[in-house]
Amino acid sequence: MQLSNITSRTNFTIAFISIFFTFIISLYFQFENFKEESNLIQKDYINIKKREVKTEVNKVYNQIEQKEKEINNHIKELLEKRVHLAHTIATSIYNDNVNIKTDKEIKYLIVTALKNISFSSKRAYFFINRNDGKAILFNTKSKLNENTNIWNLKDKAGKLFIQEQSNIALKKDEGFLKTHFVKPDLKDGVQYPKLTYVKMFKPFNWHIGTGEYIDDMTKEIQETILKDIASIRYGLHGYIFVNRVDRKALVFNGEKLKKPKEYKNIDLFNLQMEKIRNGGDFFTYNFKKLNTSEEFEKISYVKSYDKWGWIIGSGLYTDEVKKHIEIRKKELQNNITNQSISLVLVFMFLSLLVYLISKQMSLKLENNISNLVNSFRKASRKNQKINTELLTYDEFEDLANSLNKTLKSRNKAIIKQQDYLEIINTHVITSSTDIEGDITNVSDAFCEISGYTREELIGKSHNIVRHPSVSKEFYENMWKDLKAGEIWRGEILNLRKNGEEYWVDTIIQAIYKKDKIEGYTAIRHDITDKKKVEYLSITDELTKLKNRRFFNKIIEKEFLRAKRNNSLINFMMIDIDYFKKYNDRYGHQSGDEALKEVANALKNATKRAGDYTFRLGGEEFGVLFISKTSKQAKEFSKNILKIIEDLKIKHEDSQTSKYITVSIGLVSKQSNKLKDENELYKLADESLYEAKEKGRNQVVVKE
Ligand code: GH3
Ligand code: MG
Ligand code: MG
Repeated sequence: MQLSNITSRTNFTIAFISIFFTFIISLYFQFENFKEESNLIQKDYINIKKREVKTEVNKVYNQIEQKEKEINNHIKELLEKRVHLAHTIATSIYNDNVNIKTDKEIKYLIVTALKNISFSSKRAYFFINRNDGKAILFNTKSKLNENTNIWNLKDKAGKLFIQEQSNIALKKDEGFLKTHFVKPDLKDGVQYPKLTYVKMFKPFNWHIGTGEYIDDMTKEIQETILKDIASIRYGLHGYIFVNRVDRKALVFNGEKLKKPKEYKNIDLFNLQMEKIRNGGDFFTYNFKKLNTSEEFEKISYVKSYDKWGWIIGSGLYTDEVKKHIEIRKKELQNNITNQSISLVLVFMFLSLLVYLISKQMSLKLENNISNLVNSFRKASRKNQKINTELLTYDEFEDLANSLNKTLKSRNKAIIKQQDYLEIINTHVITSSTDIEGDITNVSDAFCEISGYTREELIGKSHNIVRHPSVSKEFYENMWKDLKAGEIWRGEILNLRKNGEEYWVDTIIQAIYKKDKIEGYTAIRHDITDKKKVEYLSITDELTKLKNRRFFNKIIEKEFLRAKRNNSLINFMMIDIDYFKKYNDRYGHQSGDEALKEVANALKNATKRAGDYTFRLGGEEFGVLFISKTSKQAKEFSKNILKIIEDLKIKHEDSQTSKYITVSIGLVSKQSNKLKDENELYKLADESLYEAKEKGRNQVVVKE
C-alpha cells in the first residue's frame, strides 16, 4: 500500500471518527439538556408562577399598607389645615372688629362664620369650646347664649375629651386626639371613632377644632384602594380578588362590586379563611376564568389585611401553566431537532471537507513521493542530483538535499576510489582467480612485471609465471592453506615471459560469496631487488655457496627445529687438505678455481630438500643434511670424500693423494643430546681436527 494512501486514509479516518464522536456527544448532551430542562420546566414553572401570584398578592398588601398610611397622613394634614383656616378666619374677624364691636358681637360673628363651613359632604365641621368647658359651637349649633357646660362630657370609652382638648390648647396651643362622637347628620346617637384637631384661640380663651370620623375616612380610603386593586391585571388571566372576613366579596372576578356582596361559595370561603389563619397560603379549586363560563383548575394564594378584615388573593390557572409547559417543551424539541439537523449538516460538511483535504493531501504527498522515488531511482542509477523544485514538503526537500549531499560525497568517493584503483592497478600487482585457480582479472602492474598481456593471462593459471626452481610442495602447501580458508602470505620466485626471475611478496585471500569460496585474490609487491641484496649478503661470491653469515642464521634455526622434532642432526665440517701448498704450487688463481670446483661438487651432492651447503671461510665448508640414521650420514660423508677425490684436481704436493682431497669432521647426533648449536659446531670442529691429525682424506664421526 502506498504511503500517500495510508496517510490520507489514516487522516480521514481519524478526522471522521473525531467528528463523529463530537457529533454523537453533542447530540447526547442536547438530549440530556432537553430531558433536564423539561423536568425543570414541569417542576419549576408552577413554582415560578405560584411565586409570581404570591408576589402580586404581597404587592397589593404592601400597597394597601402604604396607601393607608399616606391617606392617614393626608387627612391629618387636612385637619390641621382646616383648623388653621378656621383660626385665621376667627382671628381676622376678631382683628377687624375688636375696636368697633363688642366681644359678644365679635363672638357671634366668628361662630356664625365657622358654623356654616363644612367639608366632605358635611361630615366634617368646626366646633368651638371655651377652655373652661363651656360649649360655644357644638354639633354645628351655636351655644353662645346657652352657657352649656360640657366640661365633664365623656365619650363612650369614658374619655373626658372636652377637658383633654382644653388641655392641648392651653398647654401645646394645638394638637390631635382620638375620641368617639356622634355624627350630627345621622342623628342615630351612635358615637363613632373620630380623629380631632384643636387649636387655641387666645382672644376669648377658646379652642377651635374639627375632626373626621375614622370609619368614614377608612371607607373612603378603602374605596380608592379597591378601585385600584380591581384594575390590576397581570399575566394572561391574573387579577386580584378581595373578600371580607364577614363573607362579603369586595372585588370579585376582577371587578369592584358597588356594594359588598355575600360570597356564594361557602366552602371556598371557608377554605380562604383557613389559609389566612396561617398568615397566607395556597389552595387549589376550580374557578372560571375572566370572560368565560367554563371552570378550570386554579391555584390561589390568599393573605389577610387584618386591620380591615380583608382577604386579598390571586390565582393561576394550571391548564395555562401546563399549556405553557407544553409550548416550552415543543420549543425545546424544535430547538433540539433544529440543532441536530444543523449538527448533521455540519457533520456531513466537515466529513466532506476532511475527505477532500485528505484527498488533496494524499495527491500532493503522492506527487512528492513519486517525484522523490523517481529522483532516487535516477540518483541511484545515474548518480543524478534530485531536483528539489518538484518537492513541496520541507521534509522531502531535506531528504532530497541530504541524498544530494550523500550523492555528491559518494561521487567524490567514487572518483577518489577510481584514483585509488588506478594507482593500485598501476602500482600494485594484483590478480584474481576463480575457484579453480584460473585467472579472472589482473592489474596493469601484474602485466608489467610478468611481461604478459592481460589477454595472455586471463583464463590461464598462475603456472604461466611459475619458476621451475620452486618446488611442487611449496604450491601444494599454499593450496592447502587457501582451501582451508586461510590467508596465505609468502615470497614467491616467478619467471617473466622473457625468462627473467622476479620475486614477489604475496598475500592471497579467498573471496567469499554467501559463505562459499568463489575465488581468490592476490596482492603482491615486487621484492626482486630486496631478494638480490639478500642473495648477495648470504652468498659467497667466489663459490656461489651460502656464506658464513647465512650459516650462522640457518644453524640456529635448524638446530631448534631438530630439537623440536627430537630428530637426528647431521653436520659436516669439510676442509681441503694441504691447500696452502696447492696455492703455493699452482698459484692463487688456480686455488680459486679449485675452490669453485669443490664447491660445485658439494652443491651437486647436497640437492635434497633440507640440505644446506656453506662456505664457512677459506677452503672450509659446512654441510647440514638430513638422514634417517647416523650410519647413512657416515656413508654420505664418505661418499663426499670420494666425490671430491674423483674430481681429480691435481695436487702434487699433497701427501695423501695425487689429487685434492678433503678431511671431514662429522657430527651425527640426536638433537636432544646436544646443548646448543655451538656445541654442534665445536664437536664438528674437533672431529675435523682429529681427521687432519689422523692423516687427512678421511671422516671422523661423533655420534
Ligand atoms: P691442512 O691440510 O692442515 O689443512 O693444510 P693447509 O695448508 O690446507 O692449511 P692452512 O690452514 O695452513 O692453509 C690454508 C690455506 O688456504 C691458506 C691460504 O693460502 C689458502 N686459502 C685460503 N683462502 C683461499 C682463497 O680464497 N683462494 C686461494 N687460492 N687460497 C686460499
Ligand atoms: Mg686445509
Ligand atoms: Mg683450513
